[in-house]
Amino acid sequence: MTCDADNGCHAVGDVGGDGGSGLEPYVVREVLCFTPEHRRVDMLTITGSNGRSSERMPYVSPCCPVRSDVMQRPHIFPKKQFVLITARVHPGETPSSHVVHGIIDYLLFSRDVRAVALRDRFVFVIIPMLNPDGVAKGHYRCDSRGTNLNRVYDSPDPTWQPSIACTKQMFQQLVNPSWAANPSSSSLALYLDLHAHTSKKYCFVFGNHTPGGGTGNPRTTDAFPRYLAARSSIFDLNSCDFSQRSMTAKGMTDGTSKSGTGRVALSADMPLDLSALLYTVEISYNLSLAAQQRSQTSSIGVYGSRTSSSKVDVVPAAASTTNAPPQRSTQDESSCISVIIPQMYVTFGQSLLHSLLDLDEARRKASATIR
Ligand SMILES: [Zn+2]
Repeated sequence: MTCDADNGCHAVGDVGGDGGSGLEPYVVREVLCFTPEHRRVDMLTITGSNGRSSERMPYVSPCCPVRSDVMQRPHIFPKKQFVLITARVHPGETPSSHVVHGIIDYLLFSRDVRAVALRDRFVFVIIPMLNPDGVAKGHYRCDSRGTNLNRVYDSPDPTWQPSIACTKQMFQQLVNPSWAANPSSSSLALYLDLHAHTSKKYCFVFGNHTPGGGTGNPRTTDAFPRYLAARSSIFDLNSCDFSQRSMTAKGMTDGTSKSGTGRVALSADMPLDLSALLYTVEISYNLSLAAQQRSQTSSIGVYGSRTSSSKVDVVPAAASTTNAPPQRSTQDESSCISVIIPQMYVTFGQSLLHSLLDLDEARRKASATIR
């Protein structure tokens, strides 16, 4: 694969582009915006080359400093739905970068039939690092000015919070595209804002409240997490929170409301079945503990396996030895050292994508039944 252009600070590359096959990846790298400390916020658009229009996406203005004289936006794929994935709005949450790395690698390089199907059906817009200033400063939750950027999505300041303002504009462009083949149907398939947490052993999600959860309806908030729980042994459905309360709760430390988070603020004015597609994904720092617990209960002796080796997130014991904690009593979890095992996060990223295919199939069947 090659990049056909690098327009100074606005890097763009159309890669692939045979014009016909979902097998061949199409990727464009752009600068979404620059931070207050002049760092670039990168954005990737990845899909298959099939279904490409000669038209290009419109510019996102006025906060995004892309210049029409030096770059072109990605092509339009009018029949594909969008998936928006963001990470590192909280700069210290490093596991999310391993997950987004797994997602990007899989979409770009895998020739697995599921990867082909993903490229065939969806356009992935990925912003791997929303808060590079906070990362550079070594902050855990805030940007360089002490602002928790995941509380300002309801009213972001384009000058001081440009990555959030531009992401919001981009999201609104993707949800209501002027180029949609059928303007009455949404172009949004899924929004995942990747985070990490230190307290729980397993991964889980926050989702927007919709009535009727637990019914197997693919249009309620719990649908995607249920598929993910079936795919991933390190994801815990019981830890998920789809409550109304969690959409407006205030933080104990800074008093800011969750109404300013990405998944809540971006869902404003959306129909319920669309707001059900927006998630905050919490990725555990403690997967080594989770893996130990799973391995203790596993009958076939591999980390994370449940009932079948076809379930993903299975990390062979041999693969974990380089980062494995010292041998201690596995009966005493408090004595275990939590270490990051990148492959577990990478594989979890693939599980997120496979679950999207499950959800898409279910929603297609539900739509066909309604007709
Ligand atoms: Zn976070």
